[in-house]
Amino acid sequence: MNRSLACLLALLIATWPVTAADAPVRKPNILILLADDLGYADVGFQGCKDIPTPNIDSIAKNGVRFTNGYDSGPYCSPTRAGLMTGRYQQRFGHEFNPGAGPNIGLPVTETTLADRLKQAGYVTGLVGKWHLGSADKFHPQRRGFQEYFGFLGGAHAYLPERKMGGAILRGTTPVEEQEYLTDAFGREAVAFIDRHQKEPFFLYLAFNAVHTPMQAAEKYLKRFDHISDPQRRTYAAMHSAMDDAIGAVLAKLHETGLEENTLIFFFSDNGGPTMKGTTINGARNDPLRGSKRQTLEGGIRVPFVVQWKGKLPAGKIFDEPIIQLDIVPTVLAAAEADAKDAKLDGVNLLPYLEGKQANGPHDTLYWRFGDQMAIRRGGWKLVRYGSNTTLAASEMTPKLYNLAKDIGESNDLSTQEPDRAKELQAAWDKWNAELAKPLWGAGGKKEKE
Ligand code: CA
Repeated sequence: MNRSLACLLALLIATWPVTAADAPVRKPNILILLADDLGYADVGFQGCKDIPTPNIDSIAKNGVRFTNGYDSGPYCSPTRAGLMTGRYQQRFGHEFNPGAGPNIGLPVTETTLADRLKQAGYVTGLVGKWHLGSADKFHPQRRGFQEYFGFLGGAHAYLPERKMGGAILRGTTPVEEQEYLTDAFGREAVAFIDRHQKEPFFLYLAFNAVHTPMQAAEKYLKRFDHISDPQRRTYAAMHSAMDDAIGAVLAKLHETGLEENTLIFFFSDNGGPTMKGTTINGARNDPLRGSKRQTLEGGIRVPFVVQWKGKLPAGKIFDEPIIQLDIVPTVLAAAEADAKDAKLDGVNLLPYLEGKQANGPHDTLYWRFGDQMAIRRGGWKLVRYGSNTTLAASEMTPKLYNLAKDIGESNDLSTQEPDRAKELQAAWDKWNAELAKPLWGAGGKKEKE
């Protein structure tokens, strides 16, 4: 080859246009928006009429709505433990809410989604409620989150003049927050995206809205003069603040050109608390029966949507059961991150949502919460429920419901279908035998040895 031809070739190679296929593909950003104690009926895409939720609804419009979206428990902390690990939290003893204590929190032997994404090159941040242990070793920044703004416990005041729920921390430093707390969380989430728009990020925005205490800022209350019940009105205002904060976050993604490359989940950590003895807030779960703290549908089936513009279909309704445990494997697949050692209970939902896989991702889903239990297989559910984690002998007989025809769990078919009840009980017993003893009791105290 003569010299001028070689030069020409070198020039051609250097100036050859780089096609999209050659360019390094940036990993998708991951955004998890978690509501607290939000009822099944209380978003526009579930038919809510008295509280507009246009921003949350936009996720359903631009993505997929799950009509059978579940949590692996009916209580705050256990479902967060399942969310962070992708594993049934009872496998590692995180069955109940933790109290304060040096050894009470998400066991450090468990790997979190933040750990895994950090390992995969993501910048990771948590804004909001942690509730997976308040001792130093459980701090979010020791569990894979590089940045943290929020509170460590299970509930917190919203109005700055009301003191309740411990310090608001930036990292490990207490700060004096002057804004309404939901607004502050929205502000911090927007700032996180702004800071990290040039790198793949994982942002977990865990609102404490609409959990008690019932405190609304005046500007949100004003929107709900049409609601006469004071509790529902405050709930609506708190919820509306959350919807605004989500709107600000979505607008930031749009403004930074990241909308197409961000996988977004929105759901609630448990159903609405409607039962005496729970953190009643004015939520509604209809047409479901039951409440937070119960394994009836009202405690575990929640508003649940996912959006990934340009990747997942828009406006799709997905009726097969899914569970929050699916988020870890779905996210790891989207991020092309390694999970070989993970022993996950969740399933990667992407092939199902893209229509590449028929049927549903789960043959069977399971629940245990003290003496309460449930198992769902197809449209059938066997459930033992009560008003508390410890049940009286008379409450120990499970009921059998055909959810396909009886979403409100009103017609017990256990006597008509004894074989089906027996089969479901046997499947649940097998799963139950794999589980650990709770590390602490329902009161948050360590179990006596
Ligand atoms: Ca909750």
